[in-house]
Amino acid sequence: MSDEDGEQKRAVALRRVRKFVESYVAKGAYELYPEPEVVENIVQGLTDNLVAHGKMYCPCAEVESSKARGAEMVCPCTPHHADIARQGYCDCALFASPSFVAEERLRKGKPA
Ligand code: SF4
Repeated sequence: MSDEDGEQKRAVALRRVRKFVESYVAKGAYELYPEPEVVENIVQGLTDNLVAHGKMYCPCAEVESSKARGAEMVCPCTPHHADIARQGYCDCALFASPSFVAEERLRKGKPA
């Protein structure tokens, strides 16, 4: 594959990841983690895994062990509901509960 093809493939994958993240948040159960740089890092990591492995494997888990777990660790991974319920955000800090986001805003003195 030429560099140009590779760039094109990554651009398509990045659009797909951004669209997935947007539409998942639009469903309303969760919001984005309230640190845009952290979110962007995870989006880039999901994109890397999509390009390299064909699926949006969780970027904060080891890919080979994720592959062994089938679809469980493809974003949105199976454990994210329990993780968000427990700590307010998923393990990668991509999605967070509305109450966690509201608390963080208060803590930082930002208006909701
Ligand atoms: S921890 Fe978060 S970003 Fe990682 S796969 Fe699960 S839901 Fe996606």
